[in-house]
Amino acid sequence: MSLKPEDKNYLLSVIRDVHDFPKQGIVFKDITTLLNNPQAAKFLMHHLIDRYKPMAIDFIAGAESRGFLFGAPLAHALGVGFVPIRKPGKLPFTTVSEKYALEYGFDEVEIHIDAFRAKEKPRVLFIDDLIATGGTAEASIKLIEQVGAKCVEACFVIELGFLEGREKIEKYTECYSVLQVE
Ligand code: AMP
Repeated sequence: MSLKPEDKNYLLSVIRDVHDFPKQGIVFKDITTLLNNPQAAKFLMHHLIDRYKPMAIDFIAGAESRGFLFGAPLAHALGVGFVPIRKPGKLPFTTVSEKYALEYGFDEVEIHIDAFRAKEKPRVLFIDDLIATGGTAEASIKLIEQVGAKCVEACFVIELGFLEGREKIEKYTECYSVLQVE
């Protein structure tokens, strides 16, 4: 289940484009203007609930930090657990980590080793606000699988189609984006 074109245009219209942030040439998709608009935020959340209610999800894993803003309320609405995937050094218990390449250098994400509470192959939805190159999501999905879960779908509010991040994700799981930017 995906949104009608007019509904996508509505949501896209409330997301602010910030040019040259965090560096020259980048158009940053600022979702704070969606979050502070209760009508738009509710509309998006209801769409995500409608999509994921029938999928028998056991946990939602969100990527730091904007993935938390959508993942935690969605988990609450679906009545499932929420698992944070964080930058190095933030999670207090034993972690598993995964490095991934950036344009220059590397970044890393971590998950708690017991994040899915030893449940046998739980069905996990991964969520983040945006997919660009797909590096963050790919590393996160690897972590989810390394600690014994199955990532049944990766969900993004916005997909920057021209960066082709989807191709990385589809090697591991289904990829769904609410809004597409070309
Ligand atoms: P990537 O790993 O390249 O797919 O980058 C995805 C992560 O970087 C997400 O957590 C996004 O929040 C953030 N990000 C990358 N590009 C943008 C952008 N143009 N606008 C907003 N967030 C971005």
